[in-house]
Amino acid sequence: EATINKIAAGEVVERPASVVKELLDNSIDAGATEIRVEVKGAGTDLIMVTDNGKGMSREDSTLAFTKHATSKILHIDDLEKVLTLGFRGEALSSIAAVAKVYLTTRQKDSISGTKVVVSGGSIENVLEVGAAPGTTIAVESLFYNTPARKKYLKSMRTELAHITDVVTRHAFGHPEISFTLISDGKVLVRSPTSGDIFDSIVYLLGSESAKKLIPVEFKSDIVKISGYISKPELSRSGTDLQYFFINGRGISSKSISNAVRLGYYNLMPKGRFPASVLDLELDLSEVDVNVHPAKRYVRMSHEREVCDAVTLAVENALKVEQL
Ligand code: ADP
Ligand code: MG
Repeated sequence: EATINKIAAGEVVERPASVVKELLDNSIDAGATEIRVEVKGAGTDLIMVTDNGKGMSREDSTLAFTKHATSKILHIDDLEKVLTLGFRGEALSSIAAVAKVYLTTRQKDSISGTKVVVSGGSIENVLEVGAAPGTTIAVESLFYNTPARKKYLKSMRTELAHITDVVTRHAFGHPEISFTLISDGKVLVRSPTSGDIFDSIVYLLGSESAKKLIPVEFKSDIVKISGYISKPELSRSGTDLQYFFINGRGISSKSISNAVRLGYYNLMPKGRFPASVLDLELDLSEVDVNVHPAKRYVRMSHEREVCDAVTLAVENALKVEQL
């Protein structure tokens, strides 16, 4: 069983940034408005996520570590939502299989909190503790029992860049939530909380970059597109300045990226990608089950139509700017 869990864990937990992503998703699902991420040693020594969300009962806090434990399937009607967003109840059990995990949680109305210690997949201790409302999950010594996985990690700098990217993407997806990322005592990200995506961009990409942004508002039969694209000069040879969301959830999509590029025609130099932060509002029935457990590559039933709409949205936005 332990071996199977370790193998399965590799699917979800590829690197420290995957842990950060799963923990952030859980904090967001728990309704948190403030989320703080602290890492040491680019996440290999420590990843600690603290939120002010709804917390867990004592019973749920131990259940959370069993495979396929999810509190998120409430009605059969939710199944579609569950499939779409990837609620599978696998993240915490997978993380706990390859690290030492300390969970501290308290529900607002409880007089005390619970601390659960899990190591290599088994629960070692459950204690009653004093705690602030919300949840803190500390993940120590990631991959300590899977040396092969640990070896495969890139430099600290690269792993930290992945973590920063995950936090930044979540901050763009949720401008109403305050995200803080601290690495070895240094604040790397602190997102504003006005709820306005533009403020997040100014903060996260810098005001010089923000001056090069063009607003996008577009609606077709199946998709509503909103956000910002950049003037051609704010572009990169990779897609690291592109942030795409479907109904607020960050996704990766080559076809959307290409659709954006297409809207620039010859304005965009060859091999370069404009900065863009775009949210696509789609009916959930249009979005297929996520294909990979950890990365959010999605399939859309009408991908061609959605991409055409994205291209058109970009063309229109550039026209308004007279570019
Ligand atoms: P999933 O998110 O797919 O349900 P996870 O393994 O990520 O599965 O989490 C298992 C369960 O633990 C969740 O369904 C939720 O009930 C609980 N949980 C995890 N993290 C938190 C958190 N930060 N706040 C409240 N509950 C949480
Ligand atoms: Mg989860």
